[in-house]
Amino acid sequence: MSVPAASHADTRRYLIERVEDAAVVQLYADGFDELPLREKTLIYHLYQAAIAGRDIYYDQRYEHSLEMRDVLEEIVTHAAGIDAVSLAAIWRYTKLFWINSGPYNNLTARKFVLKLAPDAFADAAGRAAASGARFPLRAGERLGDLLARLGPCFFDPEFDPIVTNKTPGAGKDILATSANNLYRGVVMEDLDGFTERYPLNSRLVKQDGVLVEEVYRVGGRYDGYIREIVRHLRAAVPFATPAMAAALEALIRFYETGETDHRVAYDIAWVHDKDSPVDTINGFVEVYMDARGVKGAWEALVYYVNPHKTQEIRKLAAAAQWFEDRMPWDAAYRKQGVRGISANAIDVVVETGDSGPVTPVGINLPNDQTIREEHGSKSVSLSNATHAYDKSTLPEFRREFAWSDEEAARAEKWSSFASELTTNMHEVIGHGSGKIREHLNGNPQGVLKEQYSALEESRADLVALYFVPDPKLVELGLVDAAEQDEIVRAEYEGYARNALVQLRRVREGTQIEEDHMRNRQMIVRWLIENTRAIDVRRRDGKTYYVVIDVKAFQAGVGRLLQEVQRIKSEGDYPAAKALFETYGVHFDPALRDEVVARVERLQMPSYTGFVQPRLEAVRDAQGNITHVKISYPLDLAAQMLEYSGRTL
Ligand SMILES: [Zn+2]
Repeated sequence: MSVPAASHADTRRYLIERVEDAAVVQLYADGFDELPLREKTLIYHLYQAAIAGRDIYYDQRYEHSLEMRDVLEEIVTHAAGIDAVSLAAIWRYTKLFWINSGPYNNLTARKFVLKLAPDAFADAAGRAAASGARFPLRAGERLGDLLARLGPCFFDPEFDPIVTNKTPGAGKDILATSANNLYRGVVMEDLDGFTERYPLNSRLVKQDGVLVEEVYRVGGRYDGYIREIVRHLRAAVPFATPAMAAALEALIRFYETGETDHRVAYDIAWVHDKDSPVDTINGFVEVYMDARGVKGAWEALVYYVNPHKTQEIRKLAAAAQWFEDRMPWDAAYRKQGVRGISANAIDVVVETGDSGPVTPVGINLPNDQTIREEHGSKSVSLSNATHAYDKSTLPEFRREFAWSDEEAARAEKWSSFASELTTNMHEVIGHGSGKIREHLNGNPQGVLKEQYSALEESRADLVALYFVPDPKLVELGLVDAAEQDEIVRAEYEGYARNALVQLRRVREGTQIEEDHMRNRQMIVRWLIENTRAIDVRRRDGKTYYVVIDVKAFQAGVGRLLQEVQRIKSEGDYPAAKALFETYGVHFDPALRDEVVARVERLQMPSYTGFVQPRLEAVRDAQGNITHVKISYPLDLAAQMLEYSGRTL
């Protein structure tokens, strides 16, 4: 039943190093060794496909990222004679660059710069060149020209300052002020009356006044990378189950044509493959990086099912209609015949692109609302990532923001358990729930635009918070009756604390960009303003969000969920915007400064980059794979350089 997280006797290294406010943590895939050779071989080929597409994401995120990375990697791998202070600064920046897949912070969307004088950087590059470094020079270009050209990218925080800017301020354009490479020369006005044929998988470019879609496919943009992905996917097909092979074939077809019909066919094939023990996500998936919320960022994950934990999730999924029938929203928005919600607890073997080194802990796909309603969706919770997060968190971090010793003790005992439970509820009964009105044609994103993602994340979180005290969870065997009250209190307290603690992640500016952060901020601030559930208290110059009434918390969550569902179902854009503008986006910088000072004293990381497991195939004389070895590098640099084809 409910096993407190503290009971594991796992003494392996999780936290490897700290790089400024990032933690570097090793991810373990226990259970890989026990898989049959056929599944290991399948995973190996999918792992290669995941690494093959990694650079697509770098390029989508910023057009200069790959050149910048080449410069950095050539310097650190040819470091002889570079002075120690310069080299240390370059290493720090390079590691942050790898963790964030480019020069923009994963959470704040803001640029971070190399903290070194440009002269010293040029000197380091010159010494690296003398040791054999090969820089990405354009025709006729010299090293000095290259460094001058990329100088603003490395050193100027005001040059291309934000990767995704959904709220640029009055009169400014969300595309023009976003530095990502999903558009070129395009502003929102250009899109009036223009219908994209490849909304998810193209870069939109304005050429001589005309909009052109550069399609991501074989023969199109990213041709070379996509061909490599396809080659590895083909190698994987013979080792897959029939349902998974069908999905992989459909994915290959989509990579070949880029056509939306083929993307739909792939999504359907993927969602229908519910029982394969191994699965992959590989493609243009999440739309958070696009200020419009339309273009997909490339990502790949490869994983296998964790059978024990999956049993727990299946119980939730089987009861999905029970929960749907009791959602606190208008009956008109209740879905009938909720089906097809597949839920697996999985262990990931590799994550690249948009999902690595910084990883999600739960995923629910596909995003296409029409497919979700007709065919259902698949949910996974990333057990080994959640576990690694928990193992790398030090107890003093929880104590700092807890009002009382009892609260800290509850967090210590239950936070890991409660967060896994609510993550599962978020994915399985949260995202899968609710019905939207006919006039939205299955596409609430279209009308809710940049507010959609944060609203949908709020909805899923609220569903989890609303039902976590429900006796149904006891009936399903997911929690012990005697422990449920304490678990609920620990979860509510942790949720409230998080709205405060997460401010550490937004070190500059006074607004939150990241959608999950907006969602959590909105919910807690709404509860503070509209219920008596949470008390804001001060002690010794420190602020605390203290949960004083669990019942009021749940009732407030129900009221807010009712409204959030109404906004989604009706596509009420002004209401969505007002809700987030009032509660989710803006915050008091003095409070943030206080939180930052508190976490700095404890050296608490803002986010985590994971070092992935490493696979190596052993082959016989005919080239057949006879064994796949898994190992754990415990070294971010070694892994990143290996992915780029370099060694230290
Ligand atoms: Zn979610």
